[in-house]
Order: sequence, then C-alpha cells, then structure tokens
Amino acid sequence: MMNSALLLIDLQNDFCQNGSLAVPEGDSVIDVANQAITLFQKRKLPIVASQDWHPAEHRSFAANSGTQVGQIGMLNDLPQVWWPVHCVQETIGAEFHPKLHQSAVTKIVRKGQQIDVDSYSAFFDNGRRIKTELDDWLKENHVTRLFVMGLATDYCVKFTVLDALALNYDVTVIIDGCRGVNLQPQDSSNALQVMADKGAKFIMVKQVSTAL
Ligand SMILES: [Zn+2]
Repeated sequence: MMNSALLLIDLQNDFCQNGSLAVPEGDSVIDVANQAITLFQKRKLPIVASQDWHPAEHRSFAANSGTQVGQIGMLNDLPQVWWPVHCVQETIGAEFHPKLHQSAVTKIVRKGQQIDVDSYSAFFDNGRRIKTELDDWLKENHVTRLFVMGLATDYCVKFTVLDALALNYDVTVIIDGCRGVNLQPQDSSNALQVMADKGAKFIMVKQVSTAL
C-alpha cells in the first residue's frame, strides 16, 4: 500500500486570467483541483501546494535583466526564459486563486526566492543546487506516491514531475488539471511525452478515486 499525496502546482492569481503571466485556460483547473482536494480530504491524505514566491528584484523577470519577455537567454550559467514580473512575494498575484479550497491544504512549499536562479520544480531550483523542503516533508509523512496537477504543464508541472520521478516517487499526473504556457504550440504535448518517457502515468480527475 503506497501512501499518496496530492501536489498542486502554482495555482496562483498571476498564472490565471488577468494575471501577469496568465496561462491560457489556467482558471479552468481550479475546479479540477477542488474535486481532487475533496477526494484526498475524505481519505485524510496530505494535500501539498507549491507557490512561486519571488522577490521583486528576481532576475528571471525581463524588466530586471534588461531583456525581452518570452525570449531566452542565460541567467547564472543556466538557460532562462525571460518572464514578465509575476508572483512577487506578498502581492495579490502571488496568492492562490480565490476559488481554490486552500483551507484544505496541508502544506505549502514556496520556491523561487533566490534572485539569481529560477525554480520551476517544487523540489529543486533550476540549477539543482538548493533543495526545497518538499522532499523531506514528503518522506517525513511517508508519502511514496504523488498525484500532480497545476500550472504550467510545460514548466513547473514538467520539472516537478521529472524531479519526483528522479527521487523515486510513483507519479501520476491529473491531466485535466494541467494547462500550458505554450510559447511554442507543441510545448505542452512535448512536456507530457517527456514525463511519460520517464515513467509518469496519466489520469483524469474522475478516475482518481478508484486509483487511490
Ligand atoms: Zn516564477
């Protein structure tokens, strides 16, 4: 019997409609998240939410690096997509979507606080130099299986799932709970393919209750 947890990726205002880095149809996953939350709550299983949490001077922001939004450059020796200012600590944009049942969230994991490195994964920064508290927290709570969903498929969901697999978690992606940025039209489908190649399984939220 594997101990499961729900892992909700970056369900924050700036990634939803009218946010500064709005993911197309981003809002539509909030209902899916709430359905999944209800299932995990009923079984008293942990619900973890990651939160992109940048200082205002974060250098992944094009405005702070003298670059153009959507283009790619280098930051601290790592390839970096330049983003609009988003998810700045203590701003409304960084808050969870108001319709998310966040009172049910057991644990919040924040990422992206270091100004010179981005952090797509909820486990590590993009240089894999600094670990968040997520892996330790999951191990302390004897979690071996993760159900992952959120924003965005081609960045934070993808890198979180790949790190989870590398850390030997059993990973299932709730596919209707994910939406992508798609700077290139195939980015999300390519991301899903990479996740599948590394061992991720896919499921729809309506199938979660029988999979738990
Ligand atoms: Zn960010």
